[in-house]
Formats: sequence, structure tokens, C-alpha cells
Amino acid sequence: MTNIDGVKVAVRVRPFNQRETEAGSHCVISMTCGCTIIYDPKNQGHERTFNFDLAYWSHDGFVKDKDGLLVPNGASSRYADQKKVFCDLGEGVLKSAWQGYNATLLAYGQTGAGKSYSMIGYGANRGIIPIICEELFQAIKKSQEKKIQYQVTFSMLEIYNEQVIDLLSKTKKKGGLKVRENQQQGFYVDGLKLVPCESYAQIERLMEQGVKIRTTASTSMNATSSRSHVVITIHFKQIFLEEDLTKQSSINLVDLAGSERQKVSGSEGDRLREGTCVNLSLTTLGNVISALAEAAMGKKVVYIPYRDSVLTKLLQPALGGNSRTIMIAAISPADICYEETLSTLRYAERAKKIKNKAVVNTS
Ligand code: ADP
Ligand code: MG
Repeated sequence: MTNIDGVKVAVRVRPFNQRETEAGSHCVISMTCGCTIIYDPKNQGHERTFNFDLAYWSHDGFVKDKDGLLVPNGASSRYADQKKVFCDLGEGVLKSAWQGYNATLLAYGQTGAGKSYSMIGYGANRGIIPIICEELFQAIKKSQEKKIQYQVTFSMLEIYNEQVIDLLSKTKKKGGLKVRENQQQGFYVDGLKLVPCESYAQIERLMEQGVKIRTTASTSMNATSSRSHVVITIHFKQIFLEEDLTKQSSINLVDLAGSERQKVSGSEGDRLREGTCVNLSLTTLGNVISALAEAAMGKKVVYIPYRDSVLTKLLQPALGGNSRTIMIAAISPADICYEETLSTLRYAERAKKIKNKAVVNTS
């Protein structure tokens, strides 16, 4: 079975943060009838409208006041909490996995825009990844089928300075792990720990450990911002004992590094070097997305630069390949983030054009 489908895009606005509130920032985003509109704060009357698959507020809606400024209107019809985002996006990921399709969920956006909040979550506000894992094990438990054996493995890696670091391994390999390629698997990380899991509690512990190890460096944008990409992969296998059939799915869950340009975050020295490398992976991701979007529009594209960065090698199936793919574009509502937000929305618009050909993986 083959499923040809575009990349699904959801845009999520986070609430104003303290810095924006203190700066007296105005909101430049509105969401109506499925459209996301961004208003240019320096050019009154200039706006751009985007059509994504889903659009989420994290707080009350806004309306234009008599001066044309956006002010809260008290309505919260589009308010979306973590559960709602899981129901719209995570359920689909799980459904794909049960059917034997690969699935990928990517969070893109500037530092502090809500990528990690949406994907991993903080404290009681669990993100989409923990909820997916919990629901997967609940469904396995519910399935009373004695003739099906289930296998779940979990891995968690970080791409930092084009090096791959295993976030489940206490010993850090100098120079990172190597990305290799073979016919059967395509690109894979040699020596990455794949931990077999039997319960959600086990995954919860692994994730906690991984988040702790994740390399973080503060920038002027956000004291806990991360300059690295995190890729969590769940391999889910269903072995149908009586039919001699195996269905398998890889679920890739990616929390990308901040998309902001270097001059915005004001990093220097070491961090600037990191930024350059982080941008190499992100720039290449952008190039791959652009090339695929052009190909999907009928242009003749001869070369897709997957091989130019670690991130795009690992994400190859998710981008124009054998995967059902969703992108969450995380944005700030504030005028002071206008340029970055517009750039995120444009990026997501390009990604939406990509067509993937997912097939059920059986053996
Ligand atoms: P990123 O990973 O994109 O750098 P974070 O996810 O860490 O950003 O979010 C930055 C801050 O904003 C965090 O304190 C987080 O709790 C808060 N935040 C982000 N998105 C939301 C949301 N949808 N609702 C409430 N708080 C949010
Ligand atoms: Mg983050």
C-alpha cells in the first residue's frame, strides 16, 4: 500500500513571554477561518496570509482596535492545549505506526518559540512525544491479540556542530558517532543505542536522562535555549505469529535548533562557531525543502542535497520519501519577533508543498 501525501503543517502561537510583555509588544498574528495572518508592524496595512492545515492559539484571540492594533478579545475559541495538539497530530502519527507507515514530526521555529514545549513539554505540560509513547503502550496493553508480538525500541540523539551524540549513552564518543549508509536502511547512525522498551515509564526515564545530557548553551534570546537538534526515534514492530508477517514503523520526532539568524541572537566566539554549524544543518534542510517543493510543483530538479548535512541524511525518508510527515511551526505572537516569525511561516509554506510516498513496511 502506498500513500502519497503532502507534508502536513500546523502553526502554533505561544503566549507572550515576559520580555515581550515588558517591552509592551503588540500582537502581529491573527488566525481566522483556518488562515494565519501576519501584520507588518512597520508598514501599516501590509499583511500576509498563510493557509496551513492547522493553526493554534495558546492564549485568547485578538481583534483590531480603533487604531488598527491587535488587542485581546477575550475569546478563546482557538486555544489549544497540549492534549488538543496531541489529538490533532499525535493520533495520526500513532495510526500511521499501527498501519506500518513511517512517520515524522518536526518542530521548527526560532529559539523560545515553543518547539520543545510542543514536542517534549515541561513538567505537567507534557508534550506530544511523551503522550505518543504513553498512548502507544496503552494501545498495546489493550490489544488482547495473543498472536501478535510487539517490539518497541527507543533512541535519542543530538546533532551538535554536525556531530552525532547519543543522548542515552553516558560515555561521550570523541568526534561523535558516524552516520553510515547501506542499501537496506539508507542512512543510519553507527553504534547508536536502541533501547528495547516494555513500558511508558521506561521511556519516561530515558527521556529524562536524554534531556539532561542535551547540550545547552545560553544565548541572549533565551537562557536555556539549545543550539542543537534532537532526534527521538521509536521503532515499532508488530510480529503476526500465525501469518509469518512483520509490520514495522519508524517514528521520528525532531526538536530542531532555533532557526534565528546569528545576528539576532547576538552570539559570539564559540557560540558563533556552533551557530554556523547548526545553520549548516538547518540551511541544508531549507535547501532540501526548497528543491523538493520545486520538484512537487513540476520543475525539473536534478539534485536534492540530502548528503550535505547530518540532519538531512537522517531525515531523508521524512522529506520526499517513505514517511508521513508533519511540521509544527512554532511562533511568537509579538511584533519584536516579526522578521523571524515571517521567515518561519515562509519556511513552513515551502515544506507544505513537499509530497511524500509512504509505503507500509512489511517483511
Ligand atoms: P524552544 O524550544 O522553541 O526554544 P520552548 O519550547 O522552550 O522554546 O518555549 C519557550 C518558553 O515558552 C518556555 O518557557 C515554554 O514553557 C513557553 N511556551 C512555549 N510554548 C507555549 C505554549 N504553547 N503555551 C504555554 N507556554 C509555552
Ligand atoms: Mg527548545
